[in-house]
Amino acid sequence: MLSADFLNLRADVEFVNEHADLFHLDIMDGRFVPNISYGFPVVEAIAREARKPLDVHLMIEEPWKYIPRFAKAGARMISFHFEAALDRSAETLELIRSLGCKAGIAINPDCPVESIFPLLDKVDFVLIMSVFAGFGGQSFIPESLERIKAVRERLDSIGLKDVPVEVDGGVSEKNSTSLYEAGAEILVAGSAIFNSPDPAAAAQAMKA
Ligand code: ZN
Repeated sequence: MLSADFLNLRADVEFVNEHADLFHLDIMDGRFVPNISYGFPVVEAIAREARKPLDVHLMIEEPWKYIPRFAKAGARMISFHFEAALDRSAETLELIRSLGCKAGIAINPDCPVESIFPLLDKVDFVLIMSVFAGFGGQSFIPESLERIKAVRERLDSIGLKDVPVEVDGGVSEKNSTSLYEAGAEILVAGSAIFNSPDPAAAAQAMKA
């Protein structure tokens, strides 16, 4: 939704209801990332009109402070960054689950995927950033494909075949097939859809 038209949000929410499977909401605090996006009033407004689950991606410091409020605002999936939580990651995943939400761990492109392997038995999904968190409209980093494969293989090898890998950043029709083949099942696309001359066709092409 970072690429949505905030003066015409109802129309873009309706577009997602019709053409996508999730609402992906990027929350930035100006501290963990050098940008600020939007907060609770926008999330609550989207939740009122959403007929698909809200997937809240927290790019913020001290995520545990705000997770209960995002759950209350209507989030069904909540992810936070390993780099922001470090040794509090396990308890933060447990907090998300205790609120009845699906718990995800997110990692930036420069964080070794092995860092999150000890946490995989506590996650409901893994979010691999294929650009650096903080801004929409960046170019896809090709090395992300190997990182997706490594996490997918690890999940499979420890019996977690049902835990999906989500990929976020620079996702478009051009790379959706290779991302899926690498093991990503949740594709987050913003500008590739909302800035397309035919957003519905762009969304359909990626789903196909
Ligand atoms: Zn995101």
